[in-house]
Amino acid sequence: MADSVEIESQYAPPLAECAHCEHMLPQGLGEKECKVCGAVCRVGHQPTVDSLTDEALPCPHCNTVVVAGTDERPVEMTCGACMNSFTLTPKIIKVEIDCPGCERTLRIRPRPGTRELKCPACESGFNVTF
Ligand SMILES: [Zn+2]
Ligand SMILES: [Zn+2]
Ligand SMILES: [Zn+2]
Repeated sequence: MADSVEIESQYAPPLAECAHCEHMLPQGLGEKECKVCGAVCRVGHQPTVDSLTDEALPCPHCNTVVVAGTDERPVEMTCGACMNSFTLTPKIIKVEIDCPGCERTLRIRPRPGTRELKCPACESGFNVTF
């Protein structure tokens, strides 16, 4: 019996900003606490909720199309045809940052707050804040 198969969702809510300090909130929907100022903001995005609920994907075991039926991620899914299960995980959003030292574009996973990046091309370090 194989470990549970994970499939990344095709949809994710847009990145939201804190209403108080305009830094990025943790990704996802619902009540999110700002990592920078501590304010709790409600993140809602109905088109994403609809897309996630209606998300249809082929079962990784037998290719039968399965509909998620919920906007929760991760969610454990069981295929009605082969009865095998798999996990539908949240989509990871990446953002593109231009290196200030050269023209290289870096693709990173945004996390709230400030972090230091190092450009792989010109090796200059710089800080980004979300
Ligand atoms: Zn904030
Ligand atoms: Zn199946
Ligand atoms: Zn660079």
